[in-house]
Amino acid sequence: MKNPRQAGSPTALADAAADLARLIDGEVRFSPHDRGLYATDASLYQVQPLGVVIPRSREDLLRTVCFAVDYHLPLLARGAGSSLAGQAVNRALIIDCSVHLDRLLETDVEGRTCRVEPGLVLDQLNQKLTRRGTGLMFGPDVATGRHANLGGMIGNNSAGAHSILYGMTVDNLIGLDVILANGKEARLEAGASERDKRLGRLTQDVAAVLTRHADEIRRRFPKTVRRANGYNLDRLLDQYEAGGTAAMNLAHLCCGSEGTLAVTAAATLKLVPAPKRTGLAVLGFPSLPAALEAVNPILTTQPAAVELIDHLVMQTARLNREHAADMRFIESLAADNGPAVQAALYVEYFAASDEELGEQLAALTRLLPGTPQRHLTRPSEMQRAWALRKAAEPLLHAVPGLRKPITFVEDTAVDPARLPEFVAAFERIVQAHGTEAAYYAHASVGCLHIRPLLAPSDPDDRERMQRLAEEVTDLVREFGGALSGEHGDGRVRSPLLERFYGREICNAFAEIKRLFDPKNLLNPGNIVGPAPMLTHLRVTPNPHDLGAEQAVGAASTEGGLSFPDFEPCFDYSDQHGFSGAVQQCNGAGVCRKRGEGTMCPSYQATLDERHSTRGRGNALRLTITGQFNAGRLDDSIWNDAETLKTLDLCLSCKACKTECPSNVDIARLKAEYLNQHYETIGRVPLKARVVGHTRMLSRLASAAPDLSNVVANSGLARLLMQRLCDIDKRRGLPPYRPSLYRWQKQHRSAQTATATAPTVALFADCFTTYNEPELGVAAIELLEAFGYRVLLPQVGCCGRTMLSVGMVKQAIRTAERTFAQLEPYIRDANCRAILFCEPSCAASFRDDLLSLRCRTDLELRQQAAAKAMLVEEFLDKAWGSHAVHPQFAAPAGRIALHAHCQQKAVLGQASGSALPARLFGERFTTLDSGCCGMAGAFGYRPDHYELSHKIAELSLLPAARLLDAEDVLLAPGTSCRHQIREGAKVRALHPVQLLRQLLVGAEARGEPRR
Ligand SMILES: Cc1cc2nc3c(=O)[nH]c(=O)nc-3n(C[C@H](O)[C@H](O)[C@H](O)COP(=O)(O)OP(=O)(O)OC[C@H]3O[C@@H](n4cnc5c(N)ncnc54)[C@H](O)[C@@H]3O)c2cc1C
Ligand code: SF4
Ligand code: SF4
Repeated sequence: MKNPRQAGSPTALADAAADLARLIDGEVRFSPHDRGLYATDASLYQVQPLGVVIPRSREDLLRTVCFAVDYHLPLLARGAGSSLAGQAVNRALIIDCSVHLDRLLETDVEGRTCRVEPGLVLDQLNQKLTRRGTGLMFGPDVATGRHANLGGMIGNNSAGAHSILYGMTVDNLIGLDVILANGKEARLEAGASERDKRLGRLTQDVAAVLTRHADEIRRRFPKTVRRANGYNLDRLLDQYEAGGTAAMNLAHLCCGSEGTLAVTAAATLKLVPAPKRTGLAVLGFPSLPAALEAVNPILTTQPAAVELIDHLVMQTARLNREHAADMRFIESLAADNGPAVQAALYVEYFAASDEELGEQLAALTRLLPGTPQRHLTRPSEMQRAWALRKAAEPLLHAVPGLRKPITFVEDTAVDPARLPEFVAAFERIVQAHGTEAAYYAHASVGCLHIRPLLAPSDPDDRERMQRLAEEVTDLVREFGGALSGEHGDGRVRSPLLERFYGREICNAFAEIKRLFDPKNLLNPGNIVGPAPMLTHLRVTPNPHDLGAEQAVGAASTEGGLSFPDFEPCFDYSDQHGFSGAVQQCNGAGVCRKRGEGTMCPSYQATLDERHSTRGRGNALRLTITGQFNAGRLDDSIWNDAETLKTLDLCLSCKACKTECPSNVDIARLKAEYLNQHYETIGRVPLKARVVGHTRMLSRLASAAPDLSNVVANSGLARLLMQRLCDIDKRRGLPPYRPSLYRWQKQHRSAQTATATAPTVALFADCFTTYNEPELGVAAIELLEAFGYRVLLPQVGCCGRTMLSVGMVKQAIRTAERTFAQLEPYIRDANCRAILFCEPSCAASFRDDLLSLRCRTDLELRQQAAAKAMLVEEFLDKAWGSHAVHPQFAAPAGRIALHAHCQQKAVLGQASGSALPARLFGERFTTLDSGCCGMAGAFGYRPDHYELSHKIAELSLLPAARLLDAEDVLLAPGTSCRHQIREGAKVRALHPVQLLRQLLVGAEARGEPRR
């Protein structure tokens, strides 16, 4: 046994880290930066852990626990860290089970069970079960199922929208393989006390606690379907009374214990048959009370789920890029000439056949004939509609102003029949405290997520938080409800447990804790022995953690945090200022999703918290507010090596800007940070300058392309480029060609199109101009086929390459020059559009250039943004007004589109898919192919090469390889085409190239299809 008193000192911790690293195969991370990234979850709290361990195997997990016991170090096992009550942060050694302990160990289809490791993500489990054709799934479906781990669900006793059918996690848990607080392994399940003497003793001791407090347990535990407060004493008492200690399942006591009783190493779960048919009805109501009144009648139709969203969720959805379209669907539910929709209910049905489903939905219409409702039965439609409900919580973080809908009384559960009455009483409390609340809910089981709008940084609001929490606790008791229906106790509700359950029950919790964890090492301070609710709030970082009483050199403070004195290059008014942008991440962890969407490519490939959007958001927040710098806000905050490392693997793909429900925009913050970094060190590194000045270098190379290509491809040049410019010698550089301007000079003069023809301007981006002029030619010929006169103004660069490496000051100057040249085309009403082949350049005009703090008039930039479109986007949007509609030949095979990341994020998926869908109908599909991993120059760097390929292999390259010879893969992004060619040996085409090839009647261009 090591000396426990020494364990908390920095030297002892460093020694401990070194000792532990020798013991396990996994990673041991004790640096302040790594600890900072695990100091928050989705709650209001921030607590710096002692260190982070990423075990590679169950053996590693066991060794880590034994080590912590030996060193007397508190422990916190963690999954995705998506908890809302603060139970996933602690001054403890954090064990991140999500990276390697994520296997489905066994499946018993007959017995409808499976065994899993704790880090397996819920949706991944269900996908594996589907792929294996089991027809089974795990019942509880948390809204965070795309990233929540089974270990975390067990820790919190999670539940989902369908708990009316499947109950909570504990109802679906057969047994747990755990590591107890003495470092010993045990299998907890019904009957374990008979087989294992140690467990027999422990079970008897638990039974003794239960019998001692039986009357009070019966009296004080709520009888609601949902309850996630304290330990499950009522359940264990039922088991004991039904069958003695043999019937007691200690796994059920650990479930919901928030990691305070044991560490889960594996779990045996019950599975349920996946529904054969599902249908969703979405109902619109003019008010929240009207929606709540409808819940009870709806329950008589035996739905699988009834979920609610209110007007505040809708308001934030309208402002969100990803969900604005979903809101139009909800708004369409208003009654004819009736008031706007203020609340919506999602009612889902499971059925064995289409007929049964039709009957269920018809019964709902008969039940509520005057309520506008839409019935959805197609999986894609339902998925889309559910996406809005599932995003309700993170969307609320976008409510403008300092007061946010915060989580502290957000999870009450009462009898659904009493919901209207309960909400009215709740509303009175909220109003009495001078604020309002946002509502969304699992209405079917009376579990309401009510979030009063408060600013925890404001001392008066903090006072209100405390009083409101106490009053709501009393209200819930009065209604016989539960303080938490699913989110658990953590730091926010553990301090209220005594008020809720009374002293005796809390004593019983403490007795249970002592039986399992006598040294109080497992997630201490949760459920038993909590600190006051307002300690360790994220917005008032603990001075002890900061190493200073207050920030030195701060220019401003907001929300309890200090911000440096500097002139940002971007305007952040769309994110409540720079400070708002820095604090935008709410920690919900949606960016940890796997195998779908684009956000976040580097996380999807590494599964490392550090390389998730949340990791970067945390790193930036902590460093910019001086929390990595002992509270000092001097220049060194822009020069933090670890933060630079964390930002390094960000591909600036902008997926987070759209897919993150809070619209965190790491690409912009990264560019800002790098720009400040260069300012601080007084130079821009050569490797950044080479990328930033791509246009100038390409122009030079294109003047003598043959010579440039010979030189660029020579072994010596490649070696030098790798050494000096960070361009991997394994990558082929795109060949230089005589420029598009040269072609224009030779082939286009006034006689090719009449001056009276409608006009568009083609923006000659760097790659189209100097590397792929044939693409520019195809674009011009295609547009001409539609009757356009195509101008090719020489206006310079959009600054994209500079922005991508953080040369924001230079990008501003470049953009100012470009706007000056482009102004006549922007202002000219006859010039219908400014068109792009390269999506990232169009995205610059539609996004980055609008938020740059530059001298060009914002109004001019907005006009440019309105005209900036991809060629194919324009041809579709302006379909009705083209002078000519040329014919296209039918393609020989299927056509699949891989959209560029920035295109998806800024221009929208439809910018690339609408035209091919219009022209080729069912032959066309859009791939869910994520990111190509190349992202401009990202994939060229030697230290990014492997990761770049790994990202491409996640979905894009396998999809490309699956295409048949006559199929065509479309990829508007230059770097995407490059990656596909190198990685899958498939030649992807720009949509414009394919369309030019298929033009009927035009001279064939004779380019290969693939
Ligand atoms: C937007 C949003 C929506 C949500 N919706 C729901 C919902 O619909 N239903 C719901 O129930 N919850 C919901 N939650 C809360 C949370 O996502 C769930 O409780 C989820 O199951 C937690 O999983 P996790 O992997 O993130 O766990 P974590 O947050 O990492 O951990 C949760 C607890 O389990 C413990 N734990 C984790 N792994 C182990 C282990 N191996 N051994 C012992 N203890 C362990 C941790 O110590 C912690 O106390 C929501 C949260 C957010 C942010
Ligand atoms: S970056 Fe966005 S998705 Fe990720 S945790 Fe933060 S708010 Fe959630
Ligand atoms: S820009 Fe892309 S890579 Fe960077 S954090 Fe956002 S999603 Fe991840």
